[in-house]
Amino acid sequence: MKLDSSVSAVITGGASGLGAATARRLAAHGVRVALFDVNEEQGEALAAELGGVFCKVDVTDDASVDQGFEKARAAIGQERILVNCAGIGGSAKTAGRDKKDGTTNHYPIDQFNRIVQINLVGSFRCSAKAAKGMLSLDPLEHGERGVMINTASVAAQDGQIGQTAYSASKAALVGMTLPMARDLMGEGIRVNTIMPGIFETPLLARLPENVKQSLSASVPFPKRLGSPDEFAQLAETMIVNGYFNGESVRLDGAIRMAPR
Ligand code: NAD
Repeated sequence: MKLDSSVSAVITGGASGLGAATARRLAAHGVRVALFDVNEEQGEALAAELGGVFCKVDVTDDASVDQGFEKARAAIGQERILVNCAGIGGSAKTAGRDKKDGTTNHYPIDQFNRIVQINLVGSFRCSAKAAKGMLSLDPLEHGERGVMINTASVAAQDGQIGQTAYSASKAALVGMTLPMARDLMGEGIRVNTIMPGIFETPLLARLPENVKQSLSASVPFPKRLGSPDEFAQLAETMIVNGYFNGESVRLDGAIRMAPR
């Protein structure tokens, strides 16, 4: 899909981190952007900077998502692009447990549910509603109507202690990518997923400095955290390159080769 001002995009989690970087990159091509997020202050500021629209949306809430799409479509037109970035981390440790404290037998079910509702169900909810809207559009070149991108994580494939819910939610995003792509390809909609490694975003900024340093050092090459724009570059490629479909791609500085 060609990126220009005739195209609109919805980016969930667009107020911060990987979503914000993607919104910036798309807007730089003239794409009209709508940022869906619970973080009103940052979302409003970025939307104003990019000439887009902020929609206060909680992806776990069906009515809130409906209102978001309504507001976005009224402001920037029916979206052809959806990038699902809204998500939370969370391990049993953040629930006050020690990571080594046998997290499966201690993992709080309500925390598990919350992570799955935001990361997995929230992404599916937005995709399902975006797909309906995209079907109302005339196809572009090569019959293409729209593109969707999910943000999983390398934790989908190599989750660590304490990440049961997070890894499960991200693995399920990978799991739904191919069937969604199959479902929607007849309608001209492509679906892909990015599995980021460790990226320098506010999600990580909450970690202590020594933990961040050891995370950087753990990346085989290059020995640094990914930048949000490196994520956005791959998102852009998945949108522009019409041959990308049904793929889940790691973007991680080869972290799977790190010694354990
Ligand atoms: P971030 O915290 O900077 O951004 C996430 C955004 O999602 C925030 O603006 C937050 O307000 C929003 N959000 C959270 N819950 C929401 C909800 N219920 N409804 C709407 N918005 C909500 O984090 P990030 O690092 O940019 O993460 C973006 C995505 O990338 C997440 O899905 C995360 O799991 C994934 N990811 C990040 C990394 C990393 O290293 N940063 C690695 C792998 C995967």
